[in-house]
Amino acid sequence: MKSTIDKIQNWYLNHCNLDWEHQNGIKIDTLDNPGWSVLVNLIDTEFENTKFILEIENGDSDWIKIKANDNLFMGVGDPSKLSTILEIFTLEFIENKFYQREEEEKEWMLQNTWCNQCNKADLGMSNPKEYSEKHKVLISGKCLKCGNEIISKVTNERTK
Ligand SMILES: [Zn+2]
Repeated sequence: MKSTIDKIQNWYLNHCNLDWEHQNGIKIDTLDNPGWSVLVNLIDTEFENTKFILEIENGDSDWIKIKANDNLFMGVGDPSKLSTILEIFTLEFIENKFYQREEEEKEWMLQNTWCNQCNKADLGMSNPKEYSEKHKVLISGKCLKCGNEIISKVTNERTK
């Protein structure tokens, strides 16, 4: 079984094309809080224009903040969270089937949403995640306006 580091290493390798790596890449650093920071440039990758947000705050020894916005993934956390940040990047981004979809399709899905809480369409979503349930393909995410969970069903109308 491949480790998280192997998966990230592969992803990096797949994007190096003699050009991308000059402007983009991954930076792992420590913070004076103390803690860790992980920065990943999302430009020219399948994760372009997607938004993601996750925050855990249980005091100085158990915190994590992850944000993807403006084509930058930024994960910071307490001194014990480097592996968790890398695992989240692997699970929510690299292994998330949503990002293997076509550019146009992703954009459409991120914009064409329905939020039950706001009772409004097309507010947009962050944290997109594709999964299957009872032969249906679903995309879950958070409403960009209120943060409530929203779920869209993927239909294959385009291919019919
Ligand atoms: Zn909402």
